Amino acid sequence: MTVAELGERLLALRGAAAESAGELRDHAAALDTAPGDMKPHLGVSGFDLIRRCTTPERYGDPLRVGRFTYSAGSCLDTLVWMLELAYGDAGMVLAAPGPSLAGILLERFGDETQREHFYRAVAGEAVWTFFAVTEPGRGSDASGLECALRREAPGSYRLDGTKKYIGNGARGDIGVVFARTGGGPLSIRAALVGADDPGFHARELDMVGLRGTALGEIKLEGVAVPEERLLARHLPPTRRGLWGAVHVFNTVRPQVAALAVGTGLACVDLVRAERPHAPGLEAVAARLESCRHLVYEAGAALDHDRDAGSLSSTAKIAAVAAAREASRWAVRSLGPSALIDHPLLEKWTRDVGSFEFMEGTSDIQRLHVSRAWVRGQVRKGGAS
Ligand SMILES: Cc1cc2nc3c(=O)[nH]c(=O)nc-3n(C[C@H](O)[C@H](O)[C@H](O)COP(=O)(O)OP(=O)(O)OC[C@H]3O[C@@H](n4cnc5c(N)ncnc54)[C@H](O)[C@@H]3O)c2cc1C
Repeated sequence: MTVAELGERLLALRGAAAESAGELRDHAAALDTAPGDMKPHLGVSGFDLIRRCTTPERYGDPLRVGRFTYSAGSCLDTLVWMLELAYGDAGMVLAAPGPSLAGILLERFGDETQREHFYRAVAGEAVWTFFAVTEPGRGSDASGLECALRREAPGSYRLDGTKKYIGNGARGDIGVVFARTGGGPLSIRAALVGADDPGFHARELDMVGLRGTALGEIKLEGVAVPEERLLARHLPPTRRGLWGAVHVFNTVRPQVAALAVGTGLACVDLVRAERPHAPGLEAVAARLESCRHLVYEAGAALDHDRDAGSLSSTAKIAAVAAAREASRWAVRSLGPSALIDHPLLEKWTRDVGSFEFMEGTSDIQRLHVSRAWVRGQVRKGGAS
């Protein structure tokens, strides 16, 4: 799906996001230097766009552009605005307050009371959320997570363990934590947890790339979780814990690809402005544009079937590699002092390395695609 094929509604959204991208870029270096200080960035229009486009209409004030309305729900909508904002700066996009990944989980696996609680909590301008699966030593293999959710009394649980590399982990006010009630894979549950719950401790981790995400380590020491804060209580055990995480990963994976494409295109346009005839420019740009098409195709496929993840995996593998190559090419093209003369390029060369680890590494994505292929879910010339 090309930009021209997006249609009037998505082109209007794309235009609105592109207008906000420049302001995000103006704030990018300051955020990279001091990711713990969000105050100077809170008023940027991109954050407002993200909040409106990620909050379900019944809990928020959707984005309106002309006669069109946009709120949480459509994967393709999200990919369109996210790619344009990432062209401004991906670190700023990931630092945005709002429902984020936890909101995606709540929308499908929460009950009405949990959603009310969550969206009331995130209604403010400066409220961040977290989605905590990864643990020290348990990243790609989420099914091996060790965080414990023990029943203390009827209707009451206790949460103990450590989560690591959690986006907005130290900034987050409310979010979801995945933990296990027993030994088997079906015993994993997601719990809605507040950062002010007694026993919740978070600290920021120092990062090289995407410092705006302010990755955190969360220690849970006897955090009390009432049963009504466990998600997916109304669903059968096979549709609760990890299945919910997989649903979110499927949805978010092409978003990481969109962030990578936006960052790669920013590198390309920096070179285009400085050295319009740089060798390789059109080839690098064309590769990123083909990844953009793949990202849009993955979004359209997910809007058709939320559990169809193999095209998202393909998009992520391709986009992360293309963005990394674009940043290296940009440095080579601008000469020996490129990283000193262009601090944002220096930042983007660090950022592109981090995309690899978000929502599953390329090795893991290749495993997804090969499994889908074996199951006959990959069409000739594409993937479903
Ligand atoms: C910017 C950023 C934001 C993040 N946000 C979050 C978040 O919000 N919430 C959250 O829970 N986590 C988050 N993470 C963590 C992320 O999900 C993990 O880093 C990721 O799952 C990889 O886990 P790991 O770092 O432990 O690497 P490992 O799993 O230890 O992998 C190390 C290497 O081994 C390879 N490998 C592992 N298993 C296999 C296999 N079976 N076959 C072949 N190769 C394999 C991998 O490809 C990789 O190259 C974030 C990470 C980053 C960088």
